[in-house]
Amino acid sequence: MPSAIDLHLHSNASDGALTPGDLVALAHRQQVRSMALTDHDSVEGLADARRAAESLGIRFVLGIELSVSWERIDVHVVGLGIDPGESTLLRGIAQQQEKRETRAIAMGERLARKGFPGALEGARSLAGEATVTRTHFARWMVSAGHVSDLQAAFKRYLRRGKPGYVACDWIPLEEAVEWIRRAGGQAVLAHPLRYPLNQRKLRRLIDRFTEAGGEGMEVVSGRQPPDQTTLLGQLCDWHGLKGSCGSDFHSPDQTWLTPGGISPFPRLCPPIWQGWPDIDAWMDPAA
Ligand code: AMP
Ligand code: MN
Ligand code: MN
Ligand code: MN
Repeated sequence: MPSAIDLHLHSNASDGALTPGDLVALAHRQQVRSMALTDHDSVEGLADARRAAESLGIRFVLGIELSVSWERIDVHVVGLGIDPGESTLLRGIAQQQEKRETRAIAMGERLARKGFPGALEGARSLAGEATVTRTHFARWMVSAGHVSDLQAAFKRYLRRGKPGYVACDWIPLEEAVEWIRRAGGQAVLAHPLRYPLNQRKLRRLIDRFTEAGGEGMEVVSGRQPPDQTTLLGQLCDWHGLKGSCGSDFHSPDQTWLTPGGISPFPRLCPPIWQGWPDIDAWMDPAA
């Protein structure tokens, strides 16, 4: 049974493969009834996605996924229910996009020196109007035959410590939460188990996030083992946060993942959609 709620999805307004409209149509075919579009540091896809969702009767949540630097690691904060026209948020996004642009140029130079000329141009053409992300570099490496798949591109060239990696100084955690709150949204710590942190340090991150005004954390990210859901549900409850869930779907090439194709929501914590207008009508969180 797919989940009727998916609050973490990407379109080609950032590093997703589908247009916002095609993404919404796919989510609809997968029986998703409520969804958020959460592109990296971008609100460009929201208007189209919302239009498509309205025409298909899908409940739509305006979202974003902001990149944050916390103790030298990249952390992601999802904003849900944001006003995409809010001026502080828009200025912040422009700032993040500039950092992405500078990093992309540096990555292109590094990859060229490693024997991959044309990486920046290739990544740019795949990104189209969106700002270049590491995913675009990875897709270009696959399409040019340099690696067999995205995973290999990240593992060999794009991860921290690998030849094509360029560190980026994203905004501080507090600032991301502040932008989201100013824009009227709820800040959600994305995929907490994907960071290179032991449990003690992860709890510290969650503490800092909560102190900054964060309201939720993802207790379900795609398909995950039940013990992870239990751990995340408990952490969420201990820190007084609400739970969110999403697939983090990027592309139909990820054959193991679909919009809504996520593990069941745990009973251990209140859902982030608690209190949203008529959302309870859409899904029993414990179902
Ligand atoms: P960026 O924000 O430009 O640094 O790119 C980060 C994005 O790269 C993430 O949002 C993921 O979509 C993607 N990514 C990171 N690591 C991997 C990986 N090992 N395999 C596939 N995609 C990855
Ligand atoms: Mn991504
Ligand atoms: Mn993320
Ligand atoms: Mn994501």
